[in-house]
Amino acid sequence: MTSGNSLQAAASALVIQSIERKRSGLALDCVHLQEVVGAFIEGLVPDYQIAAWLATVACMGLDADEVAALTVAYVASDAERLTDIHGRPIADKHSTGGVGDKTTLVVAPVVAACGIPFAKMSGRGLGFAGGTIDKLESIPGLRLELSREEVQEALAKNDLVIASQSPTLAPGDGATYRIRDVSGTVASIPLIAASIMSKKLALGATLLVLDVKAGSGALLPDNDDALALAETMEAIAASCGIRARAILSNMNQPLGYAVGNELEVVEAMKVLHGEHVRGLSELSERLAAAILQMNDSILTEQQAVSNIRRCLETGAALECFYRWIGGQGGDIGWLSNLYARAQQEGAPILAQRAGWVTGIAPREIGSLAVQLGAGRLTYTDRIDHSAGVLLTVALGDRVEKGQPIAFLYGRPAQREALAPKLADAIAISDEAPTSLS
Ligand code: URA
Repeated sequence: MTSGNSLQAAASALVIQSIERKRSGLALDCVHLQEVVGAFIEGLVPDYQIAAWLATVACMGLDADEVAALTVAYVASDAERLTDIHGRPIADKHSTGGVGDKTTLVVAPVVAACGIPFAKMSGRGLGFAGGTIDKLESIPGLRLELSREEVQEALAKNDLVIASQSPTLAPGDGATYRIRDVSGTVASIPLIAASIMSKKLALGATLLVLDVKAGSGALLPDNDDALALAETMEAIAASCGIRARAILSNMNQPLGYAVGNELEVVEAMKVLHGEHVRGLSELSERLAAAILQMNDSILTEQQAVSNIRRCLETGAALECFYRWIGGQGGDIGWLSNLYARAQQEGAPILAQRAGWVTGIAPREIGSLAVQLGAGRLTYTDRIDHSAGVLLTVALGDRVEKGQPIAFLYGRPAQREALAPKLADAIAISDEAPTSLS
């Protein structure tokens, strides 16, 4: 019988060999990638070796075949696709990571309210960018680690389910994601593409909209990199039979005004209550419209948008939101209370001068939110769901001296220490900006 130690030694040797192979420019085949990811999921490889492997992949890159193989390796090999069980179209959306991006919390109930089942596996925060699972975990009782059967049941009952990775849902992504978050290996086209697309594969999306961010607050700021990522994911989707559309969106300022878990849940709820939130409302509408159009090829964009607005105005999307949260065990009473008492105790940042807002540095604001407690600096860090930043201004706004331009939420000592940095992240000038994007 092979002992645990010798299995570990063999797995470590495999990972070291993989690192050396990749570093010398050789390709990694499908079986080899399955073995490396499989050994890590089994707990046979220490975190530091996988961190080194991820860093090597991030530096050397992967070709199209390798990315597709890594995507499949992230999904447990015996996983049955949900579509095959469900038999109806399944819509999904994914953003490539940004600051203040809570579009999933709007798009999912809107699409479900428009009659298209929506199933999504989401991730946690990654570096300075927030994650849907962290946002949703601010709701007491909400269960996100679901078995395949629970996902299937929730989808059949509410036409909407959002789950995190679990031992049966894209375990390879779950295991590597938490290491990438704290090892400087987030901004890599193949690693992002495989991570995102494995989550789509695991739940069996048939209609997929990909929100690919570019700009200073995106995981990949450069426009060409964002395009390459979009193409990489579209190619994986095509090879897996998923109808996908990528939309490039701008992340040169946070999306909406709220950055931080509870704050973002509240802001998404504002849109579901029919309020207009600049930036967030427009992008959510674009993403949901793309799904509606993929589902019904004769629907014009204008028709799709008017269907979406009707669901928001009639309260159908909000109703779907509450049904979904309640269905996964979330405390609806707490949620409506949070919405009613929202945003009371923040520490204000006041404008030091009058002028126009010409810059709101998203990456800095995302990092400040993490330091306030909204994200993790090491993977054992506990999140403070109430922490974060609430802006009161957007690019191009006029402000007067002494006017609050943002509020900080978190522990008082942290708020005090980080306040000057938040003030520095919001630029105010004499001249209005020439462009708002
Ligand atoms: N979102 C993901 O799910 N994975 C990434 O790597 C980046 C964004």
